[in-house]
Amino acid sequence: MTDRTITIIPIDEINFPILEYIGKCLETTFDLETTIMTRQEIASHIPEPVYGGRYNSTNILKFMADRIPGSAFKLLAVTTLDLYSPIFSCFFGEAQLGGTCALVSLHRLKQEFYDLPPDQETFLARCEKEAIHEIAHTFGLLHCSNKHCIMYPSNNIIDTDVKSNTFCPDCTCLLKI
Ligand SMILES: [Zn+2]
Ligand SMILES: [Zn+2]
Repeated sequence: MTDRTITIIPIDEINFPILEYIGKCLETTFDLETTIMTRQEIASHIPEPVYGGRYNSTNILKFMADRIPGSAFKLLAVTTLDLYSPIFSCFFGEAQLGGTCALVSLHRLKQEFYDLPPDQETFLARCEKEAIHEIAHTFGLLHCSNKHCIMYPSNNIIDTDVKSNTFCPDCTCLLKI
């Protein structure tokens, strides 16, 4: 483990192969090592959900940021909790812009959420895009207006499915790892 490692932290029950898949995708995209930590129980420490069972992602991010070791490079928390963000427009997660911590929720990435049959391939593709998107925010990247760029903000799952898993030429130039 180098000092430039992306640490993936499940904060509730997440199947290990999903975390491994996200790790591989991040390694490929950012050319950095990843490591997967054991599950961190955060749900019991954050305020009760509001907005129909959705948790405030800013509060979870703040909880994480207050507890990370000073030496941490990038952290990606992965949760099955349904999130909402009062400020930012990332529907499936949130990140500290140019900071250390990012958060992604798998809750609305499953076909079952939309009353459709399970589709693991589609689910994993969405996990990949949202994880890369949030970690890219920690490298300072903002949202992009190109619908096919991974930095396009997803306001719904269609946006996620339409965008690719790569950065457009403009975002590629801006990404400094
Ligand atoms: Zn975003
Ligand atoms: Zn872009």
